[in-house]
Amino acid sequence: MTTAAIIVAAGRGQRAGGGTPKQWRALAGKRVADWTLNRFKGVVDHIVLVLSPDDTEAWEEFRDSDLLLASGGNDRAGSVRNGLQALADKSVSQVLIHDVARPCVSEETIRNVLVELETHAAAAPGLAVTDALWTGDENMVTGTQDRSGLFAAQTPQGFRYDAIVAAHTAHPGGAADDVEVARAAGIEVLIVPGDADNLKITRPEDFARAERIMGTDMDVRLGNGYDVHRFGDGDHVILCGVKVPHDRGLQGHSDADVGMHAVTDAIYGALAQGDIGQHFPPSDPQWKGAASEIFLRHAVELAEQMGYRISNVDCTLVCEYPKIGPHAQEMREEMSRIMALRADQVSVKATTSERLGFTGRSEGIASVATACLVKS
Ligand code: MG
Repeated sequence: MTTAAIIVAAGRGQRAGGGTPKQWRALAGKRVADWTLNRFKGVVDHIVLVLSPDDTEAWEEFRDSDLLLASGGNDRAGSVRNGLQALADKSVSQVLIHDVARPCVSEETIRNVLVELETHAAAAPGLAVTDALWTGDENMVTGTQDRSGLFAAQTPQGFRYDAIVAAHTAHPGGAADDVEVARAAGIEVLIVPGDADNLKITRPEDFARAERIMGTDMDVRLGNGYDVHRFGDGDHVILCGVKVPHDRGLQGHSDADVGMHAVTDAIYGALAQGDIGQHFPPSDPQWKGAASEIFLRHAVELAEQMGYRISNVDCTLVCEYPKIGPHAQEMREEMSRIMALRADQVSVKATTSERLGFTGRSEGIASVATACLVKS
């Protein structure tokens, strides 16, 4: 079966406060929408992101991504219809429809819905209501309500693709969710167990609760890297990707960029994936004179493949000369470009070793680096 998820992100989310629509606000280090999208990546075959026509920055940002983009409609149902339309030529058999404002949805919940769709036309997570229910006016209880048989509806709500397309086409509008649309078309919907952590961010205080939930399964990794290269003949050195004039050069199999090597090894270290020598053996002639950018890019890609994002790197160069200070900013910018990070996530600094040891005698340059990676 070919599966897809439609992430409905076209709302303006004003109840959550903060001015910016809630899907673009930060939550535990990234935006709500990024958390939500990551939950579905690798689980379904296609992801449609439904964006407001007003979110021009988001359109620009996601244009070249793996995501399919659709424009929001006049209401939520219109947005879903546009999302379904974006899948028209993808031979999708099952589709999940999910609110972008539920970033804490677990992979288990998503998979549970998909499994049930193998044998049911529709399935959606619901939580049996356990609190007593009241009716009330502004501040007084006016009655009680029997809670038996009541469920709190969650998403992703899953459907056979053709059936939900037909149901949305036929529906007159005004439905609370896609389950209501499906039921109006006679589709039976199975309830799969919901998850109390799968909250919908609605009010300002929901951000704090979502961060607490995210925090409980946060996987943060540190790695260190250390490298040394010896001075030899030459008229420049390459440090953190920047060519620095000097009366000597650094010797090495590659371009001998000792700073970039330490950063690369720090990333490999955080991933427990060995070191540069293991991935790019010095015995292999193809890496002779290679730009170290190749190594760093490889480490960054490996981190991404393993589901980690780099939170920051810090690199210290140890040498008497050349002086690093005048070049440090350019080094930060160059490494952040290679790693697709912001410059404020990349630190390059330097120290001398008080003329002690091999760095003090200017026999070579040493570098140490630390990288912090966070599971996406
Ligand atoms: Mg090296």
